[in-house]
Amino acid sequence: MAQIILHPDKERSAFKRHPWLFADTVAHLKGRANPGDTVEVLTDDGRSMGKAAWSPKSQIRARMWTFDPDETVDDAFFKRRVALAVARREALPELRGQQGLRLIHAESDGLPGVIADRYGDTVVVQLTSTGAEKWRKAIVGALVKATGCARIYERSDSDVRGMEGLERVTGWVHGEAPAEPVTILENGVRLGIDVEGGHKTGFYLDQRDNRRLLGELSAGKTVLNCFCYTGGFSLQALAGRAIEVLSIDSSGPALDRARANLALNPDLPAGRAEWLEADVFEILREFRKAGRSFDLIVLDPPKLAASAAHAERAARAYKDINLHGFRLLNPSGLLMTYSCSGGIGLDLFQKIVAGAALAAGRDARIVRRLAGAADHPIGLAFPEGEYLKGLLVQAD
Ligand code: SAH
Repeated sequence: MAQIILHPDKERSAFKRHPWLFADTVAHLKGRANPGDTVEVLTDDGRSMGKAAWSPKSQIRARMWTFDPDETVDDAFFKRRVALAVARREALPELRGQQGLRLIHAESDGLPGVIADRYGDTVVVQLTSTGAEKWRKAIVGALVKATGCARIYERSDSDVRGMEGLERVTGWVHGEAPAEPVTILENGVRLGIDVEGGHKTGFYLDQRDNRRLLGELSAGKTVLNCFCYTGGFSLQALAGRAIEVLSIDSSGPALDRARANLALNPDLPAGRAEWLEADVFEILREFRKAGRSFDLIVLDPPKLAASAAHAERAARAYKDINLHGFRLLNPSGLLMTYSCSGGIGLDLFQKIVAGAALAAGRDARIVRRLAGAADHPIGLAFPEGEYLKGLLVQAD
């Protein structure tokens, strides 16, 4: 097995058990390694820190598989790690019985580059690193064993793969395409999941708790759901007896799926739902001119800053939508606002929202801080695992 020797001044992150070894952390490679090969990680003075996956094309030059120098990275290793990730979810009562559930959350579950989401008896796996790619057979086999699922679809089509020098791969890797469309029941609402063509693995499971919260807040309220995707928040608002739910997305196919989702729930008052294909940044301004207002507004935009480098431009975009959101909010109304940009931390996001309220001339306060669901844990040694942050803000 080849070895990588850490730079003596840059070993600290490995001692803190951070799973990424950046290019400038690695002083040199001893021996030969192909992309995805397992390498032993040594400090400058020869102490073994564990094993990692080698990724010569990426700025993240290696990702730690294990911090135990004696642990072997083989099929049995993936069987253990995958089974452990599944068992972690089973140990959390709030996650038991969920039909839509993230089973593996990459680094936070000790499996860098591996995402696995379960939708009923279908699992969707996404491999984004050379190491995960190398062990794909072991990972798929371990998932079948740990879940007993009928089929696994691979959605390795994220842009991150390009940075690792990997091609896009999609297709059924276990079992066959299901005869019936894939659906899940989430907080009492039936949702169709397009595992092959939807965003990410088909759905945004991390917002499950926040969708339920919106349902709890909706009774008797007029609701505006911006960036609605396939209508997850909208359907919860309808189930929560909102009097009117207006949902906006710029994607026609997402709205088609949202309408189809509503049709899957014949008990919901479809007459109270309206769907609008529009650019949120523009339509909020038009609503203002038209004198429209709402009791509850959800802003769940796509990732506006992929990294800290784009944070400034993204901050302006967040401020813009939040400012216009505040302007459309009725007195004592609630704004449920999110950022899933890794480059924008909670402190910065809070400042942006505060600036937006001020600019809108609204006196407002945070009534709740919001985060992703428990099946999307954040490794204590891996703060980068925190993507979703949200605020529930009430304005006078
Ligand atoms: N809230 C959703 C997830 C939102 S994902 C849920 O709970 O499932 C972000 C959505 O924003 C995507 O559906 C995308 O099509 C949409 N989108 C991106 N840019 C947009 C824009 N400028 N205006 C309107 N929608 C946009």
